[in-house]
Amino acid sequence: MLEYTEKIRETARKLLEEGKVEAFIGYTKGTVPMMNHPVVIRDPGKADILHWDSNCALNLCNYLTKMKGKIGIIANGCNSRNIVTHILENQVSRDQLYIVGIPCKGMVDHRAVKRAAGNREPEEVIEEGDTIVVKGRGFEETIKKKDVMQRNCLVCTHRNPVIYDEMVAPSVEEQKEVDQFKDVQMIEEMTSEKKWNFFTRAISKCIRCYACRNACPLCYCPTCFVDESRPQWVGKSSDPIDTMTFHILRAYHCAGRCTDCGACERVCPVGIPMRQFTKKLNKDALELFSWEAGLTLDQRPALDTYRPNDYNDFVR
Ligand code: SF4
Ligand code: SF4
Ligand code: SF4
Repeated sequence: MLEYTEKIRETARKLLEEGKVEAFIGYTKGTVPMMNHPVVIRDPGKADILHWDSNCALNLCNYLTKMKGKIGIIANGCNSRNIVTHILENQVSRDQLYIVGIPCKGMVDHRAVKRAAGNREPEEVIEEGDTIVVKGRGFEETIKKKDVMQRNCLVCTHRNPVIYDEMVAPSVEEQKEVDQFKDVQMIEEMTSEKKWNFFTRAISKCIRCYACRNACPLCYCPTCFVDESRPQWVGKSSDPIDTMTFHILRAYHCAGRCTDCGACERVCPVGIPMRQFTKKLNKDALELFSWEAGLTLDQRPALDTYRPNDYNDFVR
């Protein structure tokens, strides 16, 4: 990933020096292994803090909402699709952006890396091609990257950016033979009672920290419905009904907009499989409306438009 990092730094430095952008959004290495975090730089002298590896899994599009001025940003497949969604939803304009495209090779699941290292605390994690070396107090483990990938990346079919001004490297091959919705089918086949038990069990661990909401670029309302007090749509307690209401409404707000970037799932401190709440809606949007979020600027999103031949059977 060194070549990506060097190219990102060089591009950001040049764009800022030439005044082509006022700010550049990318990632920097975290103080804890595998916790790279977003960073906004405005000084070309700071370009060397930019970094890229398989732990750049938070969604940078979050930082574009209502930003003013000309902005440089790096974007892999899923982040670029969120940029398209942001443009279509008037959160940022295309003219404001200089998009540096990243052909993505997938992100690693930090929890899976830790499990593969025997649940010992990693002090250093080094990525070398397709392997990951985890070092800690008294141990060193070499893990294959493909064994610890994030689940969304394993089924991703848009690894290359769909919109960019320049690329840091040639496109990567897309994964064509993946079964994107295998986990959804497994749930669809359950009885109603089993589905209810499946979701209530998953949600029962939720501590209502809202990290999933905060990490998601789709959640940019000035006041989220969970924070409204007049009227109060949902209680503040950890009562299962309040928690369920939060999850159902949040998922519906993402319908036809989710890019399966996995940021919500990655940040959940209690490991709730958040993508399973939105993935069924992605499947329905594809099957019923031939719609995948953020692939093009030339078409309004499925839920923005009405066509007489749209699927209508749900209207009673
Ligand atoms: S979902 Fe696709 S584009 Fe996004 S990080 Fe994973 S492999 Fe990359
Ligand atoms: S709901 Fe989750 S996977 Fe979908 S766009 Fe938001 S953060 Fe990404
Ligand atoms: S991040 Fe996890 S624990 Fe926090 S609100 Fe979301 S699902 Fe609940």
